[in-house]
Amino acid sequence: MAAILTVENIRKAFGATVAVNNVSFSVEAGEIKGLLGPNGAGKTTAIRMIMGILAADQGTIHFDLPGGNGRIPKERIGYLPEERGLYYDAKVIENLLYLAQLKGRSPKETRPEAMQWLERLELGEWANHRLDKLSKGMQQKVQFIAALLHKPDLVMLDEPFSGLDPINQNFFKELIQELREQGVTVLLSAHQMNLVEELCDSLAMIHRGRMVLSGTMRSIKDNYSERMLDIRYTGAADVERVVQQFPGMTLETQREERLLLRYDGPETVKDLVSGIAGWMNISECSVQKPPLHDIFVNTVKQQGGQIDETEMA
Ligand code: ATP
Repeated sequence: MAAILTVENIRKAFGATVAVNNVSFSVEAGEIKGLLGPNGAGKTTAIRMIMGILAADQGTIHFDLPGGNGRIPKERIGYLPEERGLYYDAKVIENLLYLAQLKGRSPKETRPEAMQWLERLELGEWANHRLDKLSKGMQQKVQFIAALLHKPDLVMLDEPFSGLDPINQNFFKELIQELREQGVTVLLSAHQMNLVEELCDSLAMIHRGRMVLSGTMRSIKDNYSERMLDIRYTGAADVERVVQQFPGMTLETQREERLLLRYDGPETVKDLVSGIAGWMNISECSVQKPPLHDIFVNTVKQQGGQIDETEMA
């Protein structure tokens, strides 16, 4: 796989606030890359630098897309900005055709595709309404179409899930997965880590401007040693003895004949499960790496950083 975007050591300060501090990552052709971090981490600032809207104080941004000569080839890129940029007193369809025209597509050629997209996103009847008559969620769908209508190779989606209800969040997830199936590369920013966990192939995770973790989802999970055991049992369970038996094990929750244990240590899954089975009658058991949110929070702490849960809300 080849990198189609390489970001090296980018930095941006606003006065005394260093919004992005030495951030590096690359985006491979055909992948969904998550730029993840809590509110204020620096995601939007990084994306604005990549889009050429803000100048980086330091560092380099290199595109490897046809027609770009290393610089940003605007017609090949789709962008869903965090501050949605549409014309609210113009009709929905006019917005779409105008924005596609800026990317080199003729309105005549684009209109049928724009209508297809609107139908698909259940906005067909709204094509000739002014944009300001639509709800926020509907406007976001229009902005999403605007990012894709000119058939870009690389799409940058800044917080595509914010402001959407859970049904539309799932719908957007499906659309983003479809883009990957079509070979489109996606860079998406999000603060809801668990929401994008199943979507991203690789990640760049940032906190207060700094890189915390990066790599493929698989490598990030593999390199994180802690595991979670989700156990259902029947009858009595001597959890105290279990925790004594395995140093590195802690009890997370226990209720209604179900236990959630965390374990960070050398034992294999087989040895853990057979050991635990000595203290209770196990009926179901699954062993998994913790969710991305926990990996992020713990890694920030291990690196000496401070993080509070309100930041992650
Ligand atoms: P959010 O999702 O909340 O927008 P983010 O990860 O996208 O978070 P940024 O918007 O990039 O974060 O902001 C990073 C930091 O830079 C924050 O502390 C923010 O207040 C600050 N910041 C961003 N833009 C500006 C600006 N134009 N002037 C001053 N400070 C800024």
